[in-house]
Amino acid sequence: MDRVARVAPGCVQVGSLADMIGLPTFYLRTFGCQMNEHDSERLHGLLAAEGLTRVASPEEAGIIVYNTCSVREKAETRLLGHLGTARRLKAQDAGRLVVVAGCVAQSWGEGLLKEQPHVDVLVGPQSLAELPRLLRDRIVHRTRGAALAESSSVFSADLPRVRRAGPTAWVQIMTGCTNFCSYCVVPFVRGPEISRAASDIIVEVEDLVRDGVREITLLGQNVNAYGREPGFNGTQDFGELLWRLADIPGLARLRFMTSHPKDVSPQLIEALAACPVVCRHLHLPAQSGSDRILKAMRRGYTRSQYVDLVGRLRAASPQLALTTDLIVAFQGETEDDFQDTLSLVRDCAYETAFTFIYSPRPHTAAAALPGCVSHDTARRRMEELIALVQEQSAEMNSRLVGSTQEIMVEGESEDGTVWGRTGTYKMVHAAMGTAAVPPPGTILDVTVQSATSATLKGTVVEAGAAASD
Ligand code: SF4
Repeated sequence: MDRVARVAPGCVQVGSLADMIGLPTFYLRTFGCQMNEHDSERLHGLLAAEGLTRVASPEEAGIIVYNTCSVREKAETRLLGHLGTARRLKAQDAGRLVVVAGCVAQSWGEGLLKEQPHVDVLVGPQSLAELPRLLRDRIVHRTRGAALAESSSVFSADLPRVRRAGPTAWVQIMTGCTNFCSYCVVPFVRGPEISRAASDIIVEVEDLVRDGVREITLLGQNVNAYGREPGFNGTQDFGELLWRLADIPGLARLRFMTSHPKDVSPQLIEALAACPVVCRHLHLPAQSGSDRILKAMRRGYTRSQYVDLVGRLRAASPQLALTTDLIVAFQGETEDDFQDTLSLVRDCAYETAFTFIYSPRPHTAAAALPGCVSHDTARRRMEELIALVQEQSAEMNSRLVGSTQEIMVEGESEDGTVWGRTGTYKMVHAAMGTAAVPPPGTILDVTVQSATSATLKGTVVEAGAAASD
């Protein structure tokens, strides 16, 4: 059965999408990073504003939406598997609509519509607002369409949003990236850096805090470059923006992702050390410990500059927890280069690291570099790196046994324990003893009793400020 309502081509359709489609539901699957998760909140908001209800499986959905990631080949391969499911479901019900949103839509462009004839609509990350219009066009005019603007001054943050429940929320402060690291597709799919006005960011954070949010994570591909693009008129240093947001009453914690080492300013170092609501955690992607590979990656810093920066950060803020991203088996990476990465992990004492095997990406300069590392070598290096990172994480976490850590409660487990994170981003599970389970957003002190490389366990020792404080 075709579930798409029959509307004569050329008619002006004034109803919502829910009135136009037989099954007024949508399934939304997100791949990739927090920025994509955040964009999905906007896709959800746009579709909910059209009267559509989110469902948990594609089988129940009139519209199937994949919000995609093209940073790694693996995510694209997984998408193709999901598109196979969508093709099968569409064969059962021709009125079902299939949408590919996000970075793969942008990267593959309209070729994706040719290769995947069951895909109805493409929307790039800068064009999410176009989704309802494209779906209408598909229903009314039967046209398959794409919106793939290369950049936009309309922030997805200005679109309707359905936020995941809880005391934490994301706020986008900029879009795009202008760094062109040689392995990275982001500048090609998300366009150049454009900063959002500080006044708009402050209003969004104030609204979220009024809504019960206590912890905000500011999002951008390179937040440290906030306000620095030519022509931006306003706050021009990320550290200054942090201080301005810290004044918002009721905001308990402020985090941010992601930081490029070359753009860490003295103001940011000071904010990390002294601003009371800024969490003492910095995710500072190193990518490699080898100068030769850093140069080939076009990262814009040397190993010694990176280590020097870490030294300055730790001198200013001895409690700072440092995490990182590392790539192994980049084009031309030798055993010596890899050993340099291992030694950087030891030198910088990361709390943990996200580790990746290099995969060539379309459009990028590194894809044309010689020196492909064999699959077996890449796997072996990856395993060695993960083992070192986990060993360090376990060792650092074990030192916290017996200490008291402050967590913000994010949820309750089935066994009656609560879970939340420390300011340094460590996951903690805490038994409540005889105390009642507090609402999410409550700050608690926990005595740590055991630790693994990934989590801490303990018992609540003192109820702190309530969520409404
Ligand atoms: S800084 Fe480099 S790795 Fe990060 S998004 Fe920009 S180009 Fe990609």
